[in-house]
Amino acid sequence: METKRTTIPAAEEILGGYFPVLDHGFVSLVDYMGSDEAVERAARVSYGAGTRKVSQTRGLIRYLRRHRHTTPSEMVEFKFHCAMPMFVARQWIRHRTASVNEVSARYSLMPLLFYTPEREQYALQSRSNNQGREGDAGDELYREAVERWERLRAEAGEAYGWMLEQDVAREIARIDLPVSMYTQWYWKIDLHNLLHFLSLRVDPRAQWEIQQFARVIAGMVQRVAPLSYEAWVDYDLESRPLTRAERTVLSRLLVADEGGLRARDGGVVDKEALAGAGLSGREMAELIDKLQAPERPDFDLDLESMQAAEVVEAKMYQAVPGSFE
Ligand SMILES: Cc1cc2nc3c(=O)[nH]c(=O)nc-3n(C[C@H](O)[C@H](O)[C@H](O)COP(=O)(O)OP(=O)(O)OC[C@H]3O[C@@H](n4cnc5c(N)ncnc54)[C@H](O)[C@@H]3O)c2cc1C
Repeated sequence: METKRTTIPAAEEILGGYFPVLDHGFVSLVDYMGSDEAVERAARVSYGAGTRKVSQTRGLIRYLRRHRHTTPSEMVEFKFHCAMPMFVARQWIRHRTASVNEVSARYSLMPLLFYTPEREQYALQSRSNNQGREGDAGDELYREAVERWERLRAEAGEAYGWMLEQDVAREIARIDLPVSMYTQWYWKIDLHNLLHFLSLRVDPRAQWEIQQFARVIAGMVQRVAPLSYEAWVDYDLESRPLTRAERTVLSRLLVADEGGLRARDGGVVDKEALAGAGLSGREMAELIDKLQAPERPDFDLDLESMQAAEVVEAKMYQAVPGSFE
């Protein structure tokens, strides 16, 4: 049967396909409702009749995003199937504006799949960011960590399988499974809140592991709603708000009038002047960072990595404790 619903060829191409993330995780776009056109229709409260030029839709979407007129983008919905380590799920679930259905370890047998960071992700504690990592931890430390992870996980998995064999309730048998273990959920969210999630989670300050999921999801948004995606990159992701003090010091460097922008002759704002304008040391570093020319991010999906649902399902099934297959 032919549908009257909006379908987007670039989104249809990946719909129901599974994109691997980390060693055993994935993201799949299960369904979507609407696209850029739905944002425009909602903003205009239109009857949907007639066609508007792409340039008009683009102009409106960019205007809406620039001016924080966000409700029209709540009209577009995305539904994903995702598998991620439990510690990633704990960060992800903090985004309260989504609907979630997580696999129940009280009901289901959990696949014994655990996340092992790649060698290059095994780093030391960052000195500048208490929530971050920096500096190579070295081969020796990594080798020993992998050995220890494997020992712990083998023991936790064995205890889990043994309890299941003894017919202990699944809700009890699972209590010592580690947070490196993979869980899964269906996750439904509207475009506005999804873009907020992505702004926070593709950011380099988010944990690297959740960034990998967010990057794949950003690639999916780019396919479903390309104009909204573009406006998000330009006005949110790569945009930086200026504080009052920052505007004051910049006005000492730049003349802005109807003729455009031009540099003030001899205008210099050194660290002393920045401090005089009220910027703390951290704010100075942030201002310098804000004024670096941004690069356009690349969230293009790797279509060659896309797997069929049956392949992913079989892998999960095979990892369930053996005696219960
Ligand atoms: C890099 C990073 C580090 C973090 N570190 C920590 C940490 O150390 N500890 C910790 O506990 N959390 C931490 N978080 C989680 C963070 O504080 C947020 O809980 C999370 O990012 C979700 O953001 P949100 O509330 O804006 O999103 P959502 O829950 O999706 O909400 C979206 C928006 O809806 C509105 N909203 C939703 N619910 C309410 C409400 N009840 N009342 C008012 N407005 C609401 C707000 O405007 C909110 O921004 C961290 C997040 C990041 C990105």
